[in-house]
Amino acid sequence: MTQEKYTRQTITARTEWIPGKLFSITTTRDPAFQFVPGQFARLGLPENPQINAAPDLWRAYSMVTPPHANELAFYSIVVPDGLFSPRLRDLQIGDAIYIDKTAFGFMTPERFPQGGQLWMLATGTGLSAYLPMLDDPNTWQQFEKIILVHGVREANELTYQDDIARFARTHARHEGQFTYLPATSREKLPGAPQARITTLIETGELESLANATLDPAVARVMLCGNPAMVTDARKLLTDKGFAPGRRGIPGSLAVENYW
Ligand SMILES: Cc1cc2nc3c(=O)[nH]c(=O)nc-3n(C[C@H](O)[C@H](O)[C@H](O)COP(=O)(O)OP(=O)(O)OC[C@H]3O[C@@H](n4cnc5c(N)ncnc54)[C@H](O)[C@@H]3O)c2cc1C
Repeated sequence: MTQEKYTRQTITARTEWIPGKLFSITTTRDPAFQFVPGQFARLGLPENPQINAAPDLWRAYSMVTPPHANELAFYSIVVPDGLFSPRLRDLQIGDAIYIDKTAFGFMTPERFPQGGQLWMLATGTGLSAYLPMLDDPNTWQQFEKIILVHGVREANELTYQDDIARFARTHARHEGQFTYLPATSREKLPGAPQARITTLIETGELESLANATLDPAVARVMLCGNPAMVTDARKLLTDKGFAPGRRGIPGSLAVENYW
């Protein structure tokens, strides 16, 4: 028998955040599957289960659960004419899902030195990668200040707020260690800027809102989600002196593009 590169797991829970648009699934976990917060799994499904039950469609998904959890969870958009995400959305509790035995990805806090501020900038489902970091006490030990910026179009896409508040209550070492900054681009939300993340960086408003300076001497920045945001924000940050780590030298910038 050939040794498969993946394991068969089972859906144990589903959450519909916005019907037909945003959902989460929880799955069983192979005890041998190891990862660090910020990494992603490759999920597999058969394109046509009637013809072939073996998985032939594979997509990357960041773990939203921390490494110490017994199960895995993933947060997903539904791309209406996408091949994978509508199939993932249709899975019911008890259905099978396939997970590559290896976790991937380098946008992890361990790439950064001890101390300073961690800025987590996400658009949409890019939030996923930051949730296990926020649910990990090591992140709160590593950084003096953590700033989470979640950019979405409409306010109902600001998901996981209760969990984020709970992580801060559980792990924050001091008052003011954590700042959560939601930003909506197509809807006015009281107390939150109506602007894109890149505009907020450019105008300096992000620094005012966070009460912190985007200075590579003290700040480490992660960018995750929409590749246009990642490219534009990376340019703005490079101009400020931010750079990814190289040849064992820790950097001040780490990114993950979702497509
Ligand atoms: C490293 C990595 C981690 C990822 N983690 C996640 C995750 O945690 N959650 C998640 O929902 N997706 C994530 N993705 C994207 C995911 O792999 C799929 O692309 C997505 O679920 C859509 O699959 P699809 O086959 O339906 O459409 P695809 O054919 O893969 O994508 C079609 C188009 O949909 C758009 N699109 C794809 N993904 C997204 C998205 N997340 N948000 C908005 N628009 C999108 C893009 O325009 C893309 O060209 C990740 C991708 C990478 C590379």
